Amino acid sequence: MAGEPQDDCLFCKIVAGQIPATVVRETDTTVAFRDINPQAPTHILVIPKVHYRNAAELAAEAPQAAADVLAETQAVADEEKLESYRIVFNTGSGAGQTVWHAHAHVLGGRGLQWPPG
Ligand code: C5P
Repeated sequence: MAGEPQDDCLFCKIVAGQIPATVVRETDTTVAFRDINPQAPTHILVIPKVHYRNAAELAAEAPQAAADVLAETQAVADEEKLESYRIVFNTGSGAGQTVWHAHAHVLGGRGLQWPPG
């Protein structure tokens, strides 16, 4: 069922503590952890604990959780003392999404090109 943990979802397993992650923050509704393949000096993923395939489904089906994720991206940026940073929700394989559990990338600590590739 939408929102429920999925057995085959990597990020649901991170939420459940079944696979390791370098967690930097956790709230009742979100987990933030360092990306295993960082694309910038700071590269942290913020995920909702509920399972939705992407940011669009999360926003439509669980808007409070979506707001919590966004608030946590700011908390992460503050903790990492990022002056400039980028928040990215890759949505769909054509945009580079590879994990089908909504997540925000927080990227910073270096200059970032615009537009992204
Ligand atoms: O937006 P996208 O779906 O491509 O992002 C998934 C991200 O999850 C990747 O940046 C990947 O490095 C990260 N990842 C991770 N820990 C895992 C598996 C993937 O940080 N165990």
